[in-house]
Amino acid sequence: MINTYKSMLHSIAERNQHQPEFLQAVDEVMEDVIPYMQENHQDWFQAKIVERITEPERVVSFRVVWLDDKQEVQVNRGYRVQMNSAIGPYKGGLRFSPTVNLSILKFLAFEQVFKNSLTGLPLGGGKGGSDFNPKGKSDNEIMRFCQSFMTELHRHIGSDTDVPAGDIGVGGREIGFLFGQYKRLRNHFTGVLTGKDTAWGGSYIRPEATGYGLLYFVQEMLSHQKKDISGLVVCISGAGNVAQYAAEKSLEMGAKVITLSNSSGTLHDKDGFDAEKLAYIATLGRELDKYTAKYTNATFHADEKPWQFACDIALPCATQNELDANDAERLIKSGCILVAEGANMPSTAKAIQLFRENEVLFGPAKAANAGGVAVSGLEMSQNAIGQSWSREEVDERLKQIMQDIHQTCITYGNSKTSIPNYLKGANIGGFIKVAAAMMDQGA
Ligand code: GLU
Repeated sequence: MINTYKSMLHSIAERNQHQPEFLQAVDEVMEDVIPYMQENHQDWFQAKIVERITEPERVVSFRVVWLDDKQEVQVNRGYRVQMNSAIGPYKGGLRFSPTVNLSILKFLAFEQVFKNSLTGLPLGGGKGGSDFNPKGKSDNEIMRFCQSFMTELHRHIGSDTDVPAGDIGVGGREIGFLFGQYKRLRNHFTGVLTGKDTAWGGSYIRPEATGYGLLYFVQEMLSHQKKDISGLVVCISGAGNVAQYAAEKSLEMGAKVITLSNSSGTLHDKDGFDAEKLAYIATLGRELDKYTAKYTNATFHADEKPWQFACDIALPCATQNELDANDAERLIKSGCILVAEGANMPSTAKAIQLFRENEVLFGPAKAANAGGVAVSGLEMSQNAIGQSWSREEVDERLKQIMQDIHQTCITYGNSKTSIPNYLKGANIGGFIKVAAAMMDQGA
């Protein structure tokens, strides 16, 4: 068994050299899936399902030329990784960040396949984006970039083939510009992107969905241990859309949130944030440190992460590999009982191993942050039937989906201790549906 596993992963690594993030994501899934296949689906080895599922169906890379405000020509690279369409049209966000490269987008697309499968909705997996840096750009520059990006992307997507959404660096403003350009080019008003404004085809709760869904999942994890979130101390990293709504829902559930962060450092408020403070933070943009001038009990720690502060619950909501073994050790020492991932793959493999060894409840991204894409799926359903559901209805459906994902994790994540192996549960639960569909379709 060990040999089959090793030689298979070795040949995948050979085919994907210089793609460390992608290989990290593949290893993380295969560590659980291969033993499961050994026991239950020997036939999938003969069919080379592992080799097939790690190869994207299609990768598009393209030139994006745009004019900045000084009338200078700028050139960026755009991508769309169409990873897997076995159970539905490709679905997944667009990331605009200078860190974007093929390895990052392939890891995100790969994760998205299993995440989308876990939602129970008919969604395949994809991801795209550009190495464009939105920081410091004017609204007009953002608009011109989005228009140029969509001028190429439009021929590769469609409401029944591939439906992008936002991710880091792509929010409501960018989705608006992208949608406008798609409509201009195709003369077609359609649900080709999700995360649209509710005035033009968007769904209620979509901006909140990842953060709210994360907390619904955390609540399930705790109640499975007969615990409750009320009164617990929460450390959150990030200050974007996921982090903000995760903080809001934590407060609503009676927890105390003491940190948020961005790439310049960590904001620590020992008194905890309240709704008014969160609203103020939303006005600060990237200048999180300004908060301490108004709330003088708080401190800003330049270039530091939030994991040094004692907490019961840690919610990494910033970016990949932001929480390493050192951070995990600090969290464990401070008595942290639960880590749930709002970002995609924020914990390194070593950090995850430490959480397991120390019986920290660990909610992996593909399960815990699936609320965002789940509500994207609900947005697609509403677009398809030409109707709009109420806030309450969408929220109720989101809650139910997160509870179902939790149940799937429990079903496939049985472990020898009282701490379920959520990572194994999510990996196997997400994988089997996609693999079976690929077998059925000879895909
Ligand atoms: N970017 C989000 C994710 O990582 C949402 C994707 C979507 O809504 O399609 O799941």
